[in-house]
Amino acid sequence: MPKFGVFSDEGCTDVFDSREEAEAKADEYKAEDDGYWADLIYVEEMCPDHEQQARSSCEDCFGEEDPA
Ligand SMILES: [Zn+2]
Repeated sequence: MPKFGVFSDEGCTDVFDSREEAEAKADEYKAEDDGYWADLIYVEEMCPDHEQQARSSCEDCFGEEDPA
């Protein structure tokens, strides 16, 4: 079972077992924090292998090289 995380500009803030729960939490944050920051709150499926990482952008799975 994939997990779903709530992400903000600060990264992953909460992880839930269902997308519904994560969406509900995201809505709570958006209600508290309307305006510019609310647009940065979103729900993503979590990486199954790495905590605190979204599946679609997991830095460990995709191994982004440091360009420097
Ligand atoms: Zn990963």
